[in-house]
Amino acid sequence: MNLANTLRRIGLADPQRPALYEGTQLRCTYGELASRAARLAGALRATGLAPGERVLLFMRNHPAYLELMYGCWWAGLVVVPVNAKLHLREAEWIAANSQARCAFVTADVGAGLQVDGACIDVETPQYASLLEAAPLELQARAATDLAWLFYTSGTTGKPKGVMLTHRNLMTMGLTYFIDVDAIDARDAIVYGPPMSHGAGIYAIPHMMAGARHVVPASGGFDPAEIFGLARDLGRVSMFAAPTVVKRLVDHAEAQGLGGDGFKTIVYGGAPMYAEDIKRALRVLGPRFVQIYGQGETPMVATALSRAQLLDTEHPRHAQRLASVGVAQTPVEVRVTDADGRELPLGEVGEVLVRGDTVMAGYWQNPEATAAALRDGWLFTGDMGSLDADGFLTLKDRSKDLIISGGSNIYPREVEEVLLTVPGVAEAAVVGAPDPEWGEVVVAFVVPQPGASVRTADLDAVCLEHIARFKRPKRYELVDALPKNNYGKVLKTELRRRLKEGKE
Ligand code: AMP
Repeated sequence: MNLANTLRRIGLADPQRPALYEGTQLRCTYGELASRAARLAGALRATGLAPGERVLLFMRNHPAYLELMYGCWWAGLVVVPVNAKLHLREAEWIAANSQARCAFVTADVGAGLQVDGACIDVETPQYASLLEAAPLELQARAATDLAWLFYTSGTTGKPKGVMLTHRNLMTMGLTYFIDVDAIDARDAIVYGPPMSHGAGIYAIPHMMAGARHVVPASGGFDPAEIFGLARDLGRVSMFAAPTVVKRLVDHAEAQGLGGDGFKTIVYGGAPMYAEDIKRALRVLGPRFVQIYGQGETPMVATALSRAQLLDTEHPRHAQRLASVGVAQTPVEVRVTDADGRELPLGEVGEVLVRGDTVMAGYWQNPEATAAALRDGWLFTGDMGSLDADGFLTLKDRSKDLIISGGSNIYPREVEEVLLTVPGVAEAAVVGAPDPEWGEVVVAFVVPQPGASVRTADLDAVCLEHIARFKRPKRYELVDALPKNNYGKVLKTELRRRLKEGKE
C-alpha cells in the first residue's frame, strides 16, 4: 500500500486532467504531477536516501509541497511537515529528533536552517535539477510503514512526533467520502491554511478523486484572495479552523458577498461556538461540515454532517449544533473515567478513539506512547460526553478545565454565553491561580471593531444563563487573542500573562 499510487493511477489513466494551480494559473496536469513526483523520488534515492528515512518540509504553502509529499511517498520515504511559523531552532530540533536526512525549504521560512544533510530551497536551480532525474518505479510499502511524522504543537514540553502510516492516511482519505463530502474531478481544494497540518492532509482525498489542487499565489490565507479563487475557479473546498471561518464570514459580510464558488468548508481543530456557526451558515449558506480529530487520529474521530447542521426541525438541533457530531465510519468513540472505565451517557470524561486512523505511536518515545495508547484505544486528552443518539459534545482539554472552590468549570460553556452578548467578537476563558479558590475564572473578551462592550453587560448575561460560580471574576478587554499558526487560541499564553501580571 503506497499513498502515491493514488496519484500514479490518475497520471496514467487521465494524464491531461488539471491537477495543480498556483492562484488561477494551471501549473501541471495529473500526468505531469505524477512524472515530477517520480523524478523527485528518483533524485532523492540517488542521493542515498533509503526507504523509511525522513525528509523535512519547512516551507510556506507552495506548489512544490504536493510533489514533495507524493515524491517522498513514491520513493518510500517519510514526510516530516513542519509548521512554517516555528523558529529556526525549533525546526532544527524536529530535524534532529526525527533524524531527517534532508530538508526542503522556502527562503522566507527556512533560510539558514541547519540540518544533518542537504537543505534545498525549492525556488532554486538546485531544486529544478532534481526534477531532471530519471523517474523511479513506485516503491512498494507495507500498510504499517510510516508515511507522515507530524510533530504536535506541544503546549507543554517538547513536541512529540506522531507516527502515521500509509494505512492511517489511506483510511483517513477514504473516510472523507463517506463522512465529510463526495468529491469529483471538477472540485478544487484550496490550500489557504498551512499545508503542514489539516489542510495538507486533505490533499489525500482530493488526490484520490483526481480533483484540482490550488495553492493561493500569496502562499497563505487572505480572505479576499480566497473569495477571488472561489469566484474564478468554482466548486472550491477548504479546511478551516473556526477562527479562519470567522475571518471568511467577516469578509463576506463586509463586502456583501455570499458563498458562491464555495462547495464545502470543513471546520475543526478548535471549538466552534454555536453563535459563530449559525452566523456562518446564514452568511455563506449550507456549505459546512464539522470534523473533530487530532494529530494522533488525523481528521477522524467524529463529524457533524451538512445534513445534521441543517436539520433545524430536529428537537435536539441546538445540542447537536454545539456538539462535534457522531463517530466517523472507521472508528469507535467512548467516554471513560481516568482508569479507562466507560461512563454512563451524559457524564463527562476523557474521550477515547479506536480504529484504523489511530497513530502507530510517538516517534522514539515509548513512555508517551504507552500513556496515549492503551489496549488499542487512543486517550485523546479531550473531555466530553456522549448522548443517547451517539453525538459527542466536547467540553475542553483536561488541562483547560478550571477548578474553582472544588467545582469543575468548563471554559467553553462560559465562552458560549459571552459570545451571545452584542458587540463581542471573541472570548477565551482561563483559570488564574487564586489563594482562596485555587483558581478563579478570568475572561478575555475581544470587542467587534467599533463596538463598546461593558463588563456589567457581560456579567449580567452570565448571571442570566450560568451558575454564579462559573461567572468570570474578572474581564479583560483586549484587541486580539494570541493564536498559533493553525488559528488555535493559545490558552497557555493567556495563563502566562495572568501569572506574570500577578508577579
Ligand atoms: P491537533 O492535534 O493540533 O490537530 O489538535 C487537536 C485538538 O484540537 C483536539 O484534541 C481537540 O482538543 C481540538 N479539536 C479538534 N477538532 C475540534 C472540534 N471540532 N471542536 C473542538 N475542538 C477540536
